[in-house]
Amino acid sequence: MSQHLKEVDFAVFSTIEKEKIRQREQIELIASENFVSPAILEAVGSVFTNKYAEGYPGRRYYGGCDNADVVEQLAIDRAKQLFGAEHVNIQPHSGSQANSAVYTATLNPGDKILTLSLENGGHLTHGHPKNTSGMLYKVIHYGVSAETGRIDYDQMEQLAKTEHPKLITVGASAYSRAIDFKLVSEIAHSHGALVLADIAHIAGLVATGLHQSPVPYCEFVTTTTHKTLRGARGGMIMCKAEFAKAIDSAVFPGTQGGPLMHIIAGKAVCFLEALKPEFKQYQSQIIKNAATLAEQMASHGYHIVAGGTDNHLMLVDLRTVHKDLTGKDAEIALESANITVNRNVIPNETRSPLLASGLRLGTPAVTTRGMREKEMVKIAEFIKTVLSDPENKSTISSVKHRVLDLCGRFPLPY
Ligand SMILES: *Cc1c(COP(=O)(O)O)cnc(C)c1O
Repeated sequence: MSQHLKEVDFAVFSTIEKEKIRQREQIELIASENFVSPAILEAVGSVFTNKYAEGYPGRRYYGGCDNADVVEQLAIDRAKQLFGAEHVNIQPHSGSQANSAVYTATLNPGDKILTLSLENGGHLTHGHPKNTSGMLYKVIHYGVSAETGRIDYDQMEQLAKTEHPKLITVGASAYSRAIDFKLVSEIAHSHGALVLADIAHIAGLVATGLHQSPVPYCEFVTTTTHKTLRGARGGMIMCKAEFAKAIDSAVFPGTQGGPLMHIIAGKAVCFLEALKPEFKQYQSQIIKNAATLAEQMASHGYHIVAGGTDNHLMLVDLRTVHKDLTGKDAEIALESANITVNRNVIPNETRSPLLASGLRLGTPAVTTRGMREKEMVKIAEFIKTVLSDPENKSTISSVKHRVLDLCGRFPLPY
């Protein structure tokens, strides 16, 4: 395959080659990223990219959909088995598209939603003013408690009672503690609201029983397939049978046209992999690695938001060790030592989101490479060393050498 690309478009070919090297040689701690298997990569690079298949298996608006039907049904059946869902729509192009389809299926413009704000760990699609969820709907937010850093369920209940939202969204992009989906659904249902649980980050943990599943309790569950779930980049919606039709028509024709059949093929492979016993071992190692990394960072003096982690990620408050170092400068310094992280706002943030005072660290990608607790101890030490002297070129270059050595011992399959 690469042979053709090299001949036709050397600029793109060589950039892909450089990206391969970057992925091989950097310690990837971005909590939302992962490495797919070569099998998934083949599926997403397949001839299914050529196929139009508007509609759903058995009810398409195009001819020649027999194989598309088979692959989409495989993805649906496997997802149902993996999560125990009554209905699955596998077509959302992304997690954001999945959320937008749920809103379209359940809300009219002007309806009220209650969600976790971006500053408290929520996602843009949970009502941010610059996202359509914030433009179309009336948004109110619950937050995390100032003392514990954990979701403030009392505040959620209070707001559900006084504000009567039509839908409560729960789920996060930067929240390190377990979420009580059962409690959220009890709160919502006793005040007449529907629940959307967005498990984009924790889907792998949920699929393997290492985090409480929202599927039995919540009307709608959305996810990405490319974060802890380690599949092709994309989205998915699960819902109770009574909402199946509304969800399907909100995805197509409501918010999308033709499904990405090559990506759906990749999702099917992802679910097959996730149904294997090794996948549970993998998810459990992600959690152990995150716990070790958080402990080690704490032992270097960093405050971990919410006091630690129950899942695959943590938010590190830099201010406890480096008063004047912004998240942005920390991110840049670490990148020059081949450690990839992202800056993140922390609860009660005092800096702008562009600067931020925190770093979000996640272990799904390093765990895919086979790294374990011992390597997490080293990584924490690398981070502390770089951040203690972020402008020192020789410190950075010596850490970079150690990073390259570590990556070399845990190779990627491509
Ligand atoms: C990543 C994420 C999404 C969106 O996923 P995209 O595929 O990037 O659109 C939605 N919700 C949450 C909580 C996320 O973390």
